[in-house]
Amino acid sequence: MSRFLNERFRTIEEYTPGEQPQNMHEFVKLNTNESPFPPSPGVIAAVNGAEAEKLRLYCDPDCKVLISKMAKLYGVGQENIFLSNGSDDILNFIFMIFCDDGVVYPEISYGFYKVYAELHGVKDIKVPLKKDFSLDPADYCGAGKTVVIANPNAPTGRAIGLDEIEKILKSNPDNLVVIDEAYVDFGGESAVKLTKKYENLLVVQTFSKSRSMAGARLGFAVGAAPIIADLTKIKYSTNPYNINRLTQAAACAAIDEDEYYRANAKLIMENREYTSTELQKLGFEVIPSKANFIFAKSDKIDGEELYQLLKEKKILIRHFTIPAISQYNRITIGTRDQMDIFLEAVKEILKRRI
Ligand SMILES: *Cc1c(COP(=O)(O)O)cnc(C)c1O
Repeated sequence: MSRFLNERFRTIEEYTPGEQPQNMHEFVKLNTNESPFPPSPGVIAAVNGAEAEKLRLYCDPDCKVLISKMAKLYGVGQENIFLSNGSDDILNFIFMIFCDDGVVYPEISYGFYKVYAELHGVKDIKVPLKKDFSLDPADYCGAGKTVVIANPNAPTGRAIGLDEIEKILKSNPDNLVVIDEAYVDFGGESAVKLTKKYENLLVVQTFSKSRSMAGARLGFAVGAAPIIADLTKIKYSTNPYNINRLTQAAACAAIDEDEYYRANAKLIMENREYTSTELQKLGFEVIPSKANFIFAKSDKIDGEELYQLLKEKKILIRHFTIPAISQYNRITIGTRDQMDIFLEAVKEILKRRI
């Protein structure tokens, strides 16, 4: 730390991203919820030569073509969509500009919420989940502050229904309710359609998971026009060109081939059910997931130890050190082949211990 860093940033505990090893190709990588499938053929074609040549020019800060495609796909107006450099960027804005009265979110959820709260000096209330990691909507009713809920939740994979989200929305008419739908394409119910009915709802999604574009950095939010205008104002006050030319071109192509991603998401869901069943046969407790990962623990082996032993076998999964979940591991769902390699390795590890 330099002596120049402002006092208020000195104690910030930054977010720790999942490992991205240099020798990535040697690993079966099931640790950061990326898609095992490449982007669609159109995306790969779109980021080739001609577009790269245009990199000398600034990109369209309004992302007009992309926004019009997205508005059509999601059945909302162009004034209802905000795009940003990954959904993390949108969450950052939300904590920066909509949380003066504080924020409430589940105690076990996406680790970045806590970081943004600290970064922006926002008072945050972390609500415990039930013992089985399910969320009680009543805990968020009449909150009197901004509500942020990942649905499906991370790292548990559990989802709540739209009826429960509506209860939260109705009981917080004067506060913003943010639903982070990073994983919604894997079987959850999207609240996007509720944005027409509730002007206090903001839904956040990403191209990182279901659309195989984590490296392109594109997130989006859907909500009432005034909220979108606020976000846009902040974007134009920080970094108007925050979605680069290649990403805009790639995302347009991705939307044109939306069936490709829906088919991939279906495969991931099938592989998720397969992996869950197989792990249960091995004695694991698996939390029911609507995401592209599962959260599981075994009485036979410590979460940390399983993570380490798998890593020795060049399989990466995610382990969290927070005491409440340190017995668990989060396993990203990959291809059927990857899941078979993972399951074989788990079997071997368990066998050696008996
Ligand atoms: C992955 C993830 C994000 C961030 O996605 P990016 O668009 O890649 O920044 C946001 N929220 C949750 C819950 C996530 O798991």
